[in-house]
Amino acid sequence: MSLLQQLQQQQQKSCAEVLAKLKKLKQKTPKNFDETIHKLHEEFFARIDCLECACCCKTLGPGVKDVDITRLAKHLKLRPAQLVERYFILDSDGDYMFRQSPCPFLLPDNYCSVYEARPKACREYPHSDRRRQEQLLSLHAKNCKTCPIIFGIFKELKTES
Ligand code: SF4
Ligand code: SF4
Repeated sequence: MSLLQQLQQQQQKSCAEVLAKLKKLKQKTPKNFDETIHKLHEEFFARIDCLECACCCKTLGPGVKDVDITRLAKHLKLRPAQLVERYFILDSDGDYMFRQSPCPFLLPDNYCSVYEARPKACREYPHSDRRRQEQLLSLHAKNCKTCPIIFGIFKELKTES
């Protein structure tokens, strides 16, 4: 069984354990927290092929900004208004959300058909290589049910230090 499959299986059983760890981390984050998470990020991404998963593209709606709409419209040779009408709705925060899930740009082999022009939120997902990881713990708690890598990082993380 691949690491991805193992993590997907464990996600079903051990999510509560990882969520409890994330809650504890909100009270006290270990020293060098960014460095530790970034190292685990590198390790998990080296061992997991996102093309075998695509759970984020299948189930989550990234928040899409005006700048993303402009870039995507140019890439698809559409006018921004046409792109929005075809694929997006506006949410209460003023972000655009895909009208449908899975994402309309996800191909059957899990490749992204607009990869070079994909929204910033897609590029940054699952946010485990960003700075100030202590500020992203609530986001990681949301994502640990979706993303096997986030689940794996926080399952693996030692919190004693
Ligand atoms: S735009 Fe591409 S990367 Fe973003 S959700 Fe859709 S398929 Fe995934
Ligand atoms: S959910 Fe996580 S592991 Fe799966 S494709 Fe997205 S980033 Fe990769």
